[in-house]
This record gives sequence, structure tokens and C-alpha cells, in this order.
Amino acid sequence: MLNVPSQSFPAPSSQQRVASGGRSKVPLKQGRSLMDWIRLTKSGKDLTGLKGRLIEVTEEELKKHNKKDDCWICIRGFVYNVSPYMEYHPGGEDELMRAAGSDGTDLFDQVHRWVNYESMLKECLVGRMAIKPAVSKGLSHEVEEDFSVRVVENVGKIEIVLKKKETTSWKRLGHPLENHNSLIPRKDTGLYYRKCQLISKEGVTHDTKLFCLMLPPSAHLQVPTGQHVYLKLTITGTEIVKPYTPVSDFLLSEFKEPVLLNNKYIYFLIKVYPDGLFTPELDHLQIGDSVSVSNPEGNFKTSQFQELEDLFLLAAGTGFTPMAKILNYALTNIPSLRKVKLMFFNKTEDDIIWRSQLEKLAFKDKRFDVEFVLSAPTSEWNGKRGHISPALLSEFLKRSLDKSKVLICICGPTPFTEQGIRLLHELNFSKDEIHSFTA
Ligand code: FAD
Ligand code: NAP
Repeated sequence: MLNVPSQSFPAPSSQQRVASGGRSKVPLKQGRSLMDWIRLTKSGKDLTGLKGRLIEVTEEELKKHNKKDDCWICIRGFVYNVSPYMEYHPGGEDELMRAAGSDGTDLFDQVHRWVNYESMLKECLVGRMAIKPAVSKGLSHEVEEDFSVRVVENVGKIEIVLKKKETTSWKRLGHPLENHNSLIPRKDTGLYYRKCQLISKEGVTHDTKLFCLMLPPSAHLQVPTGQHVYLKLTITGTEIVKPYTPVSDFLLSEFKEPVLLNNKYIYFLIKVYPDGLFTPELDHLQIGDSVSVSNPEGNFKTSQFQELEDLFLLAAGTGFTPMAKILNYALTNIPSLRKVKLMFFNKTEDDIIWRSQLEKLAFKDKRFDVEFVLSAPTSEWNGKRGHISPALLSEFLKRSLDKSKVLICICGPTPFTEQGIRLLHELNFSKDEIHSFTA
């Protein structure tokens, strides 16, 4: 790949002789041949000063590195620290300095298009240019990077508040970028992942933890009630993706202060299976490590709550996760609601997620009741026992009024959910009255 020069230096066909457009060469100092450069790159010396770490470079950061002894250049989105290469550059230092601290792609293409710079400068790679939020690029003037987004979920209105960098009056707003002034059906957009940072990880039960992730700056992700996202990790070189349902901090906030600022953070209740593929890796992450989070998916719609009077939630194990947001939404947004009941199936008392929070909520809000059912309780357990069954369901699913509008949500291990749906049909609940969360 590299054009290694022969004894006669520079070799007749070497990159250092092939001058494009009559470009002049400068004499190189002794010990600064291409071969010497290759030796240096293979020596293991830290040429970027970053100890092999790759970083995301903002335009502001790139601009700062514009001196001979600290010179970064961007070529096709990749940023290189070319200072160590200065004395080896056949075109001379001044030519390289023309692109110092900036995007040198055009300059490079004029004179070096054929040079395999990716390989030549491999050891000088600092990282990739950070992708700027697209909104600032089509605008006629610069805006602050930090902007706020308000989403009015029930009407679908999205308000983006941008702040001008300079308080001048704008003659025009700007122009839409390619594909920006268009609507794409959500099913065609594909999954987009953003890198989030692990902020905290706290035990909730013996095997379930609450993970708090922080969204990257200026990212906005609002996961609708009843929907899930995909988390992505690279495990032994392969990208692994699994679905998880964010929980609201509403049950949390009862007991934990201060609550972290909403919209910047996303919480997950995740059970760690010691022999699982994904969850042990997630559990091994350190605070500050990153996890990729996709945009939301799912077919639950809050319109199913319209005029709702009785809401019944059937959850098993971590199948509780969609119920956490549903509970919050229903109790705060549905004026017609008379009763919300949660039947929560677990193996033992130790497996119950947020038990005391749920009991306190039931105490505080008279519309809400919770019943725990255990399949493997100790002899001291006075509550309900067993698995989902016709007897348990018919007793639990009592309408508050004869013809009240009902919705039943069910989530848990697939066989649990499938059996539950069968039993609900046998109890004459219609398809429209049941929402099941399945894989
Ligand atoms: P896996 O490798 O999938 O193993 C899980 C367990 O199954 C282990 O005990 C393993 O030994 C066993 N197992 C694996 N394969 C087999 C097999 N072939 N036969 C028998 N046993 C097997 N989980 C949460 O904790 N929180 C959530 O909020 C959440 N939301 C979800 C949302 C959706 C829409 C869906 C579909 C699932 C959700 N899950 C959630 C479950 C989650 O996606 C993972 O399935 C779970 O975390 C297990 O992943 P894992 O790779 O660690 O384990
Ligand atoms: P678990 O602790 O193994 O089980 C919870 C309860 O369900 C236990 O009482 C268990 O009884 C019972 N149960 C299991 N299988 C049953 C069956 N076939 N019939 C009746 N009862 C059954 O559960 P978990 O490990 O937390 O797993 C939760 C599941 O929910 C996972 O499969 C996850 O993928 C799923 N989930 C789905 C979503 C979604 O949106 N689709 C969201 C979150 C979680 P036993 O003691 O007999 O096992």
C-alpha cells in the first residue's frame, strides 16, 4: 500500500517525486525520508499525544490546533495531528500549514489525491469530526449549540427554541438542507443510535438494577409511554442489540432527591441474568462508559386511554417496566379514570421491583391498588400465590361500573403473556380491551 522508496531517494515512482501541477518540493533534512517516516510510525511512539485514544473533534477544537508544533488537519471527516509529519512532508511545512486547524480536504485533493494518506497518517489519527446539529447549518447565521426542544405529545407539536450567537437582525432564516424539508414515514427512517453515558447504576432488587444514562449534548429523546428503545453494546467485537423499556422517574422521585433534570437522562430497570449475553456486559460497565441508545419503537398508543374508566395492569418480573410509565400517565392525564389496578407476578418477595414505592402510591392515591402474586413464596407469605389463572383474574378484573370502559395491559415472559391473553378472551374481554407487550 505504501510507496516505500528504494536506495535512490526519492525513488523515480515515489510519492515524493510525482508532483502534481508542477508542485515544488522542498529538500528534506537528513533522516526525514518516507522510509524514516514509516520507521517512526512503526516505532510505537505516541504520535498524536492521545495514547491511542480516538476523540470526537469539534470545529472549535480543530481551530485551536493551528501551530507547527500542534497542527491538526481534517481530511474527509478524519482529523490528523500532522505535527510529527511536518519535517517528512515532501511539499514542505508551509504547504501543510495552509490547512492547519481546518478542513484540508480540498487542498489535499488538488495536490495529493492519489496519496494513500489513511495509511501514511494512520498513527497520526486523532479522531473524527463531531457531527454538528444539522439545524445550525442551514440557517443564515450561527446559533448557540445548546437549544431547547419542547414536545407537546398529545397534539404532536414540536417547538425548537434556538438562540442567536450574535444579537443582530437576520434578513432571512436560511435554507432547508437536502431532505430536511420533507416528511419521512417513521417506518422508513431506520434506527438511529446515539451514544449515552452511564451516570449511575443502583441495585433495586438482588438481580435488578436501575441504570441512569445521560444523553449526549443537544440530543433530544423522548420515549413515548409504552414504547421501548434498543441498547447496543459491542461484545467481543460484535454489536449486540436488545430492547429495553425506559421507566419514568415518577416512582423514584417520591424517595430520591434531588431528581436529575428530566429529558437529559433516561432510566432503565434491568434484570441481570448471570448467564445472559447482554446484561452481564451492561452490568460490567463503569460510570462514564457509553452505551448506544436507539430511537423509540412500539405499538402502544396513549389514545387507548381516551375516556378510560378502569385500567388493569398484569405484569410478571421485568414485565413491570412498561407499566411504570403507564401508571404515571394514566394517573396524571386521564380525568375519566376511576380505578387503576396492578397485579404483579414474581417468584419471591425479594424479586418485587419497587414494592414499597407501589404500596405508598396505593396509600396516597385512592384510585390505585396493587396486588402481589408469588409463585415461589416462603411459608410466611400471606398474600396471593401461584401463577396467572382464571380464578385470580376473574376476582381481580372487576369493573368499577357495570359498563365501564376498560383497558388491560399485560407484559412478562412470552408464555405468561400468551396464557394471560387466552384467559382474558375466555373471560369475554375483547381484543380492543387488551394490550399485550410482546417481543
Ligand atoms: P439472554 O442471553 O437472552 O438470556 C436470558 C436468560 O434466558 C438467561 O437466564 C439464559 O440462560 C436464558 N436463555 C437464553 N437462551 C435460552 C434458551 N434458548 N432456552 C432457555 N433459556 C435460555 N428486560 C429488562 O430487564 N428491562 C426492560 O425494561 C426490558 N424491556 C424489554 C422490552 C421488550 C420490548 C422486550 C422484547 C424485552 C425487554 N426486556 C427487558 C428483556 C431484554 O430485552 C433481554 O431479553 C434481557 O435483558 C435478557 O438479555 P440477556 O442477553 O442478558 O440474556
Ligand atoms: P421471572 O422472574 O422469571 O418470572 C416472573 C413471574 O412470571 C414468576 O412468578 C414466574 O413464575 C412467572 N412465569 C414465568 N413463566 C410463566 C408461564 N409460562 N406461565 C405463568 N407464569 C409464568 O421473569 P423475568 O426474568 O423478570 O422475565 C421478564 C420477561 O418479561 C422477560 O422475558 C422479558 O423479555 C419480558 N419483558 C418484555 C417487555 C416487553 O415490552 N415486551 C418488557 C419488559 C420485559 P415461575 O416461578 O414459575 O417461573
